[in-house]
Amino acid sequence: MQSPFQAFLPFEEYERPLEHIRLGQGAALLAGFARDDASRLYEDILAVTATHAFQHGSTRGGYAMSVAGSRCGALGWISDERGYRYEPSDPRTGEPWPTMPARFQRVAERAATAAGFPGFEPDACSILRYAPGARLSLHQDRSERDFTQPVVTVSLGLPATFLWGGMRRTDKAKEISLFQGDVAVWGGRDRLRFHGVREIAEGSIL
Ligand code: FE
Repeated sequence: MQSPFQAFLPFEEYERPLEHIRLGQGAALLAGFARDDASRLYEDILAVTATHAFQHGSTRGGYAMSVAGSRCGALGWISDERGYRYEPSDPRTGEPWPTMPARFQRVAERAATAAGFPGFEPDACSILRYAPGARLSLHQDRSERDFTQPVVTVSLGLPATFLWGGMRRTDKAKEISLFQGDVAVWGGRDRLRFHGVREIAEGSIL
C-alpha cells in the first residue's frame, strides 16, 4: 500500500470555496476547513493507530460493523454486545487510550468555535476508517454525558455522502457530499440529530 501522505484531491476540490453551510440552528458544514491540515492529520492518525490498531466493533445486536475504529483521548467509545459507552481504557488490554494529538484538539476547537461553540475541549476522539463498501446507518450520538458539547467530525480521504437526518429516525435525511478537509459540527438544538454515512464507493486517493 502506498503511503497515505501522498493523498491528494482533484484540482477542482482545492478550488472549492471554503464556505460555512448551515445545517441547522446548531449545526454547520465547514467546507474545506481542515484541508491544509490533512497530511499532518494523516501523520497523527498513523501514530495513534500504531499504538491502537483499527478494529471492527459490533452493534448491540452482535453484528460486526463495516466501519473500523481506533480511539484516542481520555475516553474511548466502545461498541460491543453489552452496548455503547465510553471507557477510560481499552477493555481488550486494560491500557489507557493513546493521547489525543494536539492537532486534533486544535482543529476541533477551531471548528467548534467557527460553528458557534467556543471553548470546546474534546476529551474523546474516534478515528473511523470507511473502506469502500463501509457505511454507517442513521443513528444519534448519545453515549456522551454532556450534550451541551458539540460533535465535531473531520473527513479525510475518499469522498463520502453524509446523511443528515432529523430528530426522529424516520425523518427524511438530506444527502451531503463530504470531501477531504470538510468538517461538520453539530451541537445545541441539533446535538441529537440522526446522521449516518452512505456506503463508500470504490475510489483511490493515491
Ligand atoms: Fe455518529
